[in-house]
Amino acid sequence: MAEFIMELNDEQKEVRDWIHGFAADVMRPAAAEWDEREETPWPVIQEAAKIGIYSLDFYAQQYFDPTGLGIPMAMEELFWGDAGIALSIVGTGLAAVGVLANGTEEQIGTWIPQMYGTPDDVKVAAFCSSEPDAGSDVASLRTRAVYDEAKDEWVLNGTKTWATNGGIANVHVVVASVDAELGSKGHASFIVPPHTPGLSQGQKFQKHGIRASHTAEVVLEDVRIPGSCLLGGKDKLDERLARARERARSGGERVKNAAMATFEASRPAVGAMAVGTARAAYEEALEYAKTREQFGRPIIDNQGVAFQLADMRTSIDAARLLVWRASWMAVNGKPFTAAEGSQSKLFASETAKKVTAQAIQILGGNGFTREYPVERMHRDAAIYTIFEGTSEIQRLVIARTLSGLPIR
Ligand SMILES: Cc1cc2nc3c(=O)[nH]c(=O)nc-3n(C[C@H](O)[C@H](O)[C@H](O)COP(=O)(O)OP(=O)(O)OC[C@H]3O[C@@H](n4cnc5c(N)ncnc54)[C@H](O)[C@@H]3O)c2cc1C
Repeated sequence: MAEFIMELNDEQKEVRDWIHGFAADVMRPAAAEWDEREETPWPVIQEAAKIGIYSLDFYAQQYFDPTGLGIPMAMEELFWGDAGIALSIVGTGLAAVGVLANGTEEQIGTWIPQMYGTPDDVKVAAFCSSEPDAGSDVASLRTRAVYDEAKDEWVLNGTKTWATNGGIANVHVVVASVDAELGSKGHASFIVPPHTPGLSQGQKFQKHGIRASHTAEVVLEDVRIPGSCLLGGKDKLDERLARARERARSGGERVKNAAMATFEASRPAVGAMAVGTARAAYEEALEYAKTREQFGRPIIDNQGVAFQLADMRTSIDAARLLVWRASWMAVNGKPFTAAEGSQSKLFASETAKKVTAQAIQILGGNGFTREYPVERMHRDAAIYTIFEGTSEIQRLVIARTLSGLPIR
């Protein structure tokens, strides 16, 4: 097991500086334009692909970094650049992780390259779990997957919503129920290959923030996919379902939901995104406070402003430490006995919302305009307390983990 280290090593610093360069030179100058256009920034994704930031190799290298700091470091820098564009770049990675975590080696080798495409022909992927009536309550999803044994095909029907890259993705990973009576234990994940008939994009959402990231409904009407598109394979699913049914029959001990453990491991990455946005807004505010003069002196000379900046920086550093701790725990298989993954996401996302609002205040009227980036950063920050589990759900998970009680 790698020791918990609170400093990046030389190699990680080099990677961080490389990503930072891309974020500063390519993403930042493009941020306002793609926010206004509210479209997927394909040319920027392509630039990222050309230098290797948009690729499975890059993502996998950070994902398997034994210190656990690879992913949070990369996420912080990209989201420091711009949250909307960054989500367009890392959205595919979120779908790829679904395949890496549950797929067979063959499935990983077949589908992940198709999720990214090539630098000359970039593609994106989508992870579709949420539904109109199943947001926080993921167990209640209604999309059904029925096995057609004669043809060795699965047939998917349902409506997904809020899917990042939904409808424009080359590959969609869809979570569906194969046994409604088992709730979340009857869920399975499926690959929907490119151009599969029956999958279509529904409404594309016009959003408050992260507007360069495409978010849409995905409609599945009699979508037929080969049996081999069930992630992990049929034997593994049958074994898992048999165990769940047996447990349900015997009223046996509640087993820890594997999906919950996966969330604990993935939530710090969202925390790191929030740290990136918060840091970006804090840096803008610090610089502004040092140069803007009122009453014959820089506004930072007033404790009322300087103390705000002190609090902003303290919260950002605390958030990063929580994120790094949880990421290190995830990579090294430490049990999340105090829901440390959820703690990191809760604190970092609330910090981003607060810090970006403080940044607007410090920039005064300018902060309220689109001439300065903190207005966009504040709109972007609002997503962190919503997706990958709202703040209320994080508190619920933490409280349940600490108490062992089914707190509602
Ligand atoms: C921009 C964006 C991108 C997204 N990307 C994806 C994606 O790629 N794939 C995907 O599958 N999903 C995605 N999501 C969906 C996201 O994960 C959900 O929006 C989120 O889980 C919340 O679900 P909901 O919107 O249905 O809110 P609801 O669950 O309806 O919650 C509404 C409010 O009620 C509160 N609430 C609900 N239950 C409780 C409770 N038990 N106790 C206390 N408070 C409660 C919530 O905290 C929230 O404040 C995305 C969402 C957005 C906005």
